[in-house]
Amino acid sequence: MTNNENNTGILGLHHVTALASDVQKNVDFYAGILGLRMVKKTVNFDAPDVYHLYYGDREGAPGTLMTFFPYPGMVKGRKGAGQLTVTSFSIPEGSIGYWMKRLDKFGIDFTKPQTRFDNEEFIYFEDNDGLGIELVANDSDFRDGYNYGHIPSAHTIKGLYSVALNQQRHERTAGFLTDIMDHKLIAEENGRFRFSVDGEVGEIVDVLALPSGTIGKGGSGTFHHVAFATINDDTQLEVREKLVSHGVHVTPVVDRMYFRSVYFREPGGVLFEVATNPPGMSIDESPNHLGAELKLPPWHEKNRSDIEGNLETVTLDMEKFRD
Ligand code: ZN
Repeated sequence: MTNNENNTGILGLHHVTALASDVQKNVDFYAGILGLRMVKKTVNFDAPDVYHLYYGDREGAPGTLMTFFPYPGMVKGRKGAGQLTVTSFSIPEGSIGYWMKRLDKFGIDFTKPQTRFDNEEFIYFEDNDGLGIELVANDSDFRDGYNYGHIPSAHTIKGLYSVALNQQRHERTAGFLTDIMDHKLIAEENGRFRFSVDGEVGEIVDVLALPSGTIGKGGSGTFHHVAFATINDDTQLEVREKLVSHGVHVTPVVDRMYFRSVYFREPGGVLFEVATNPPGMSIDESPNHLGAELKLPPWHEKNRSDIEGNLETVTLDMEKFRD
C-alpha cells in the first residue's frame, strides 16, 4: 500500500470484522484450515463477555487482518443489500488447485474457479456460519503471508485482496467512495464496480449493483464492518474533518489498543471505520507470541478473573490441519 499525495490519508483496507457463532470452529477454520495467524485474542471492548479474535499475517499487519466477535449460539444473519458480503484473500498465482484440494480434504464446498476482470481467477466458499470468503490468485502481491508450518509457503494466504459491498443504489456508495474516501473507479464489469485508492492488492472495494436485492440482516455469518487504514492520528483527524464537512455522522476517536478508530455509515448502510496503522499488534505482546494469551485493555484488566471465567477455552491445535 502506498500513500497518494492527492488524498487525505486513506491507504486501503485495514481490517474486516465479522460475526460468528462458535469460537473453536472459528479458530479451526481461520487458523487451522486457512492458516492465518491468530495474532490477538482479546475481548469485545464494548462487551467484554465476548471474544474479539484477530487473524492476519506474522505481524498482524494492517491489510492482512480479519477479526471476529464470536457470540456463542448467535442466530444466523442473512446476506443482502446494504452489507459487505464477501471478503477476498490474496493467494499466489497458480495456488488455486492447492486450495481446492485442501478445502475438499476438510469438507468445505467451494465454487469451481471463475474469472473476472480479464484474468482474476478466484474460488468462493463459506465458513461454518456461512460467511462469504474468496481466494483470489494473483502475481502482484509481494507480502509474505503466514502459516503455522502446515501449509507450503508457496501457497499461503498473503492478506486481504478486496471486499465486496452489495447495494441497491450502488451510485450512492460509489459517490461516497470517490468524493470523500479518496477512491477511484478502476474497472467495471457486469454490475461490479471496482474502486481503489491506488489500484494495488489490498486496496480494492467492489460495489455490486443489485437494484432489487433484499436488504441483509446482521447475525452470525455476516460482516459487521470494514476498516480503512490511515497513516497516523493526524491523517485520521483530517479524514474525520472531511467526513464531518460532508455532513457524515462520525464517532469521536475511539482507542482500540492496537489502532485508533472512527466509525460512520456509508449511504448504503455499511459500517465503515478508519483505523490508524500504529501502534499495531505488538504493543502488548512480543511479535513471537502474538495471540498466545488473553489480552485485555488496561481499563478491563481489573475484571480479568470475571472476564476469563465467562469465556470458553480455545485451543490452537495445528496437527489436525496438516495436508
Ligand atoms: Zn474494526
